[in-house]
Amino acid sequence: MQFDTLLMPGPPDDSGNEFLIYRGDLECNIAPGNKQHKLKYHMQQALSEGCQYVATFGGPHSNHVAALVASCQLHGLKPLIVVRGETWAKLTPTLQSAVASGAVLFPSTRQDYRLGLASEIKQTIDSYYSNVYWVPEGGAGPLGVMGCFDWAKTISQHSKAEGAHFCVASGTGATAAGFASSGIDSLSVFSALKGTHNLTEDVQSLCRQAGLDITAQLSTYDECLHGGFGRISKELVNFLRTLYRLNPSIILDPIYTSKMVYQVYQLQNKGLWPHRRTLFVHTGGLQGWLGVKKDQQPYSDPERYSC
Ligand SMILES: *Cc1c(COP(=O)(O)O)cnc(C)c1O
Repeated sequence: MQFDTLLMPGPPDDSGNEFLIYRGDLECNIAPGNKQHKLKYHMQQALSEGCQYVATFGGPHSNHVAALVASCQLHGLKPLIVVRGETWAKLTPTLQSAVASGAVLFPSTRQDYRLGLASEIKQTIDSYYSNVYWVPEGGAGPLGVMGCFDWAKTISQHSKAEGAHFCVASGTGATAAGFASSGIDSLSVFSALKGTHNLTEDVQSLCRQAGLDITAQLSTYDECLHGGFGRISKELVNFLRTLYRLNPSIILDPIYTSKMVYQVYQLQNKGLWPHRRTLFVHTGGLQGWLGVKKDQQPYSDPERYSC
């Protein structure tokens, strides 16, 4: 388990604040990051039900799809992927490598995709294949939360994490729910989505559904700085370049961890970050850079750092 110090840009401040990062991006057993942990119990469930196929939903650059395909390969299961959007002139790098690893892709209309497990495409797939285990989009649900709970426990029990204020980025909130109930004292959750006003309630309800109690004091933040989910602002790219010069062994992903660290950096600059010892959780997702335009890339060769 690797914990690194993260140096923040700007003049050395006298706050004495210390920033650490847990390198979930370096966990190379299946696919780096949180998604493999969200999938752990889903995979066990699929195997115990004797399923041959594991199906799920994902966008064309999805970290979830990448991790699900890798997990399926490891367990000898066949991945079936419903991809958001109906026409593809060309497969994205994420989908190309999914196909190369044996995944079967199904196009869907955005409207039908939104229905998830109630979609027509799911019915169609179930009529062609038998023994399909369905994983909800992003690997969410109580099983996803339980996997993150185990992950969070392992991280938080490490001596380096002692007394730290935890920071985690969120999409569905399943990862945050696992951390919130893992026994840690305090947690800040940074949504990758704009206007998530019910994030605290969402995390609470995810914990409840998984039969877990929240132990951490929660603070939540939404994506108010870069234009919303998946958007990359110039400021963010500049910040990442500077951060990389200071920390040449640490690359952050474009959608989640980079925006979390940027927001903490801004709060700290305004004197609004009260935590002495902060631990960022790097949730992986570096493959996301493969889908980003060259002029928005702060790193020359991000692939080098994914395992
Ligand atoms: C999916 C993802 C998240 C968000 O996880 P949720 O459990 O959906 O909140 C955070 N970071 C990275 C890198 C991800 O791929």
